Amino acid sequence: MDALDRLLTQRRAAREYARTGLTPEQQDLQRAAREFAGSEFPGIITPDPATEKTFPADLFAAYAELGMTAVDVAEEYGGAGYGLLEKALCIIEDCRADSTIGLAFSLVSIISDVLAIAGHEDQKRRWLPLIAQGRCFPAISLTEPDHGSDLTRFNTRAETDGDGFVIDGVKVFTTYGLEAAYFIVAAQTDPDGPDYQGFSTILVERDRPGVSVAGLGDKLGIKMTSSAEVVFCGVRVPRQNLVGELNRGIETLNRFFAKSRVKIAAQALGVALGALEAAERYATRERRQTGRFIAQYRPVAEMLQFSRQAVARMWKLVLRAARNYDAGGPFESTFLAALAKRDCSNLAERVVRHCLQIFGGYGYMREGNPADVERRLRDVIITTIYEGTNQIMDLIMRSHLRQHPHDRHLIYW
Ligand SMILES: Cc1cc2nc3c(=O)[nH]c(=O)nc-3n(C[C@H](O)[C@H](O)[C@H](O)COP(=O)(O)OP(=O)(O)OC[C@H]3O[C@@H](n4cnc5c(N)ncnc54)[C@H](O)[C@@H]3O)c2cc1C
Repeated sequence: MDALDRLLTQRRAAREYARTGLTPEQQDLQRAAREFAGSEFPGIITPDPATEKTFPADLFAAYAELGMTAVDVAEEYGGAGYGLLEKALCIIEDCRADSTIGLAFSLVSIISDVLAIAGHEDQKRRWLPLIAQGRCFPAISLTEPDHGSDLTRFNTRAETDGDGFVIDGVKVFTTYGLEAAYFIVAAQTDPDGPDYQGFSTILVERDRPGVSVAGLGDKLGIKMTSSAEVVFCGVRVPRQNLVGELNRGIETLNRFFAKSRVKIAAQALGVALGALEAAERYATRERRQTGRFIAQYRPVAEMLQFSRQAVARMWKLVLRAARNYDAGGPFESTFLAALAKRDCSNLAERVVRHCLQIFGGYGYMREGNPADVERRLRDVIITTIYEGTNQIMDLIMRSHLRQHPHDRHLIYW
C-alpha cells in the first residue's frame, strides 16, 4: 500500500469513526466479516427446500477456522478476546448476507454464552475451545411444555443425590438439541423455594444415561437449526456440573440474557439491513413500471424512507446496548438489552414486510425471489419470540422503570 492509499484508508476510517464511533480495528473486523459472509453465504440456499434445512457443515468449519464463532470469547478459551460490540458487528454482517445462515451460525455463539458467563474454570476449559473450533454444539434447555415465558419455577427437578444431582423432566424447543454435546438445563433444586429462588442451571452431557432427544418437526423459519424435545429420566450428574450457584439459576439467566438479547437485536438488524439494501437496489435501479423506477412512486418511496429510519434506529439501539454491556453498565444492561431486542425485532419485522411489498409478486415467491425476502420474513419473526417474547420484554422494562423512574429517558434516546 503506498502513502496515498494509506492516507485515504485512514481518512475513510476517521469518517466512519465520526459517523458510528467504531474504531479502525472494529471497522477492520466488520469488513472481514462482511467479506467472508458476503462471498461465502449467498448461493448456499437455493429454491430447493432441502438446502434451507441442511446445516452447511463445511461452511461452518471455515467460519470457525476464521475465528468467527468465538469473536467475543476470551483468548484462553480459544476466542479472539473481543467484546459484545465486535461480535454484534459480525452477527449483523452474517444476517445481512443471508438470514438463515446468519441466524443459525450466530445462535452457536449466543447459546455458548451461558457457559462463558457463568461456567467455572473446568467447564470453560473443556467446552469453549471445542465450540470455538466448530467441533461441538451447545444447547440451553429452559423452556418446558408448561413453562415458557414463566421462569418463576420449573417442573424439571434436580434432586440432590450424594455428591451430585438426579434430573427428571421434559424440555421443549431446545435449539441444536439434535446435535448438542451438552445441555444447560434449568431445574428446580429447591421445590419449596420462593419464585425465582429455587432453581439452578446444570450442565448435562448428552451421552449421560437417561437423556433422550427427539426433533420437533418443521417450522416457519430458521429451518437450518434443529428444535428438539429433550427428556431427562433419572439422569445423574456430579455436583461440579452446576453452572453458577445453587438455587441462583435466575441470576445466571439474567446475566446471560443481558448479553444474548443484544445479539438477538443484532440478528434482527442484519436481516432487515440485507432486505433494505436489496429493496433499494430493486426500486431505484432495476424495476420500472409505466416508464419510471418504482422508487419514484410515493408509496414505495415512503416504505423505503420508513425502512431507512428504522434501520438507523436499530443501529443506535444495538451499539448503545452493546457498549453499555462491554463497559459493565450493570444497572442498565437488562433494560437496554430488553429495549434493543424488543424494538429491533419489531422494527425488523416491519422493514422486511415493507421490502417484500416493494418486490411485489416476486417478493412473495420462493423461486426467482431476487433477495430471498420471503425467507427473510419467515426468519426474522423468531427474533420477536425467542430469548423471551417481546411482551415479556415490555414487562421487564416496566418493572425496571418502576424501580428506576429516572431511566425513562433511555426509551426516547
Ligand atoms: C425456533 C425456536 C427456538 C427456541 N430455542 C430455545 C432454546 O434453545 N432454549 C429454550 O429454552 N427455549 C427456546 N425456545 C423457546 C422460546 O424461548 C419460547 O417459545 C418463548 O419464551 C415463549 O414461550 P412459550 O412458547 O411457552 O409461549 P407462552 O409463554 O405460552 O406465551 C404465549 C403468548 O402469551 C404471551 N405471554 C405469556 N406470558 C405473559 C405475560 N406474563 N404477560 C404478557 N404476555 C404474556 C407471550 O408473549 C406469547 O405471546 C425457542 C422457541 C422457538 C420457536
